[in-house]
Amino acid sequence: MSTVLERFLRYVRIDTKSDETSSTSPSTAKQLDLCRLLEAECRELNLADISTNAAGAVLATIPANVDHEAPTIALVAHVDTSPEYSGTNVNPILHEDYSGEDIVLPADSSQVIRVADNPALNQLIGGTIVTTDGTTLLGADDKSGVAIMMALAEHLANHPDIPHGPIRLVFTTDEEIGRGIDHLDLDEVGAVCGYTLDSDGRGRIDTETFSADQAVVTVNGINTHPSVGKDAMVNSIRILSRFLAELPRDTLAPEVSEGRDGFIHPYHIEGGVAKAFARILLRDFETENLSMQAELLEQIAEPLRKEYPDADIQIEIKKQYRNMRDGLGKEPRAVEKAVAATKAAGLEPRMEIIRGGTDGSLLTAAGLPTPNISSGQHNPHCPLEWTSKEELEDCLQVVIELCKLWGEERE
Ligand SMILES: [Zn+2]
Repeated sequence: MSTVLERFLRYVRIDTKSDETSSTSPSTAKQLDLCRLLEAECRELNLADISTNAAGAVLATIPANVDHEAPTIALVAHVDTSPEYSGTNVNPILHEDYSGEDIVLPADSSQVIRVADNPALNQLIGGTIVTTDGTTLLGADDKSGVAIMMALAEHLANHPDIPHGPIRLVFTTDEEIGRGIDHLDLDEVGAVCGYTLDSDGRGRIDTETFSADQAVVTVNGINTHPSVGKDAMVNSIRILSRFLAELPRDTLAPEVSEGRDGFIHPYHIEGGVAKAFARILLRDFETENLSMQAELLEQIAEPLRKEYPDADIQIEIKKQYRNMRDGLGKEPRAVEKAVAATKAAGLEPRMEIIRGGTDGSLLTAAGLPTPNISSGQHNPHCPLEWTSKEELEDCLQVVIELCKLWGEERE
């Protein structure tokens, strides 16, 4: 019998980094390595209705064991890890009987997980902390969620005395690049609500996310040999740099915002003299503010267009996801039961807003109310990422309680 920690340690060793520059689905074939393993493990556990969709997402059902028609709920976790940091050769390190000190990562001593920056460590003294060796991310985002869901399936198989309704497991790909629910058929999910297991620590319930768009600013200039550049060259790099320098810095930037503040965040730049572009995140909890952010970008571009009439400056806005707040109202039991399950597991529920998005934002917008709950993550997307055995087990307990509570409901 494997525990949630054993599963976690196995899954994080499989490289599943997604790639936003790829146009295939899934964006990287290596995500399927984990998808295939999960599908096989679902078969070993005799789950029902196992399928894989065009994006590689794996769906399976833990069949109900109650006599009445209980509603189906979905649990969702993503197999991919962030493109922002290497997920190759992840070497998870166990720090057993944790002493309460800062943790120096063994393969790169410049990487230190400081207690001052990670107060949750104070609650885990004597426990087992799991970190990277300092050279990769850990992938707790979101293999913690994946491990909890598989451990749940095993636990319920071994404990037929725990009453529950039908539970749909959904393992998505490409969540980190915003394509987690591409090709996902909500009728095939067939649930009244869902829960993404993709949040930090334990006991947390995220009921709001950002609303999000992406802006791509593209400058097309004119390249000449620099020797004959006079009155001929139009350098896209200079124009794009001017544009970026005009973005707000004292407000509306991730470096100076928190809580309910939104931001405009340039995060990728690429190009040469003839053409240069930048990708920019637009984020706010109020969807209507995104169009104000887009308007601000146009206001910055306008004088540059006048100053450089031979350049072409285009701003393209792509819709990403929307605050889940409004859609959650459709199934009020989703959050109510998450709160009750957290208490039943002996934890204090922490209601939070998430300064990002999840598959749950997309699912909620698509009509499946899906709040996000803890799966034991800390410091995602970087080598300082960590989790702990105790948090993984507590989060599993919350999900077990959630299944019990939904098993008492009638359709
Ligand atoms: Zn995640």
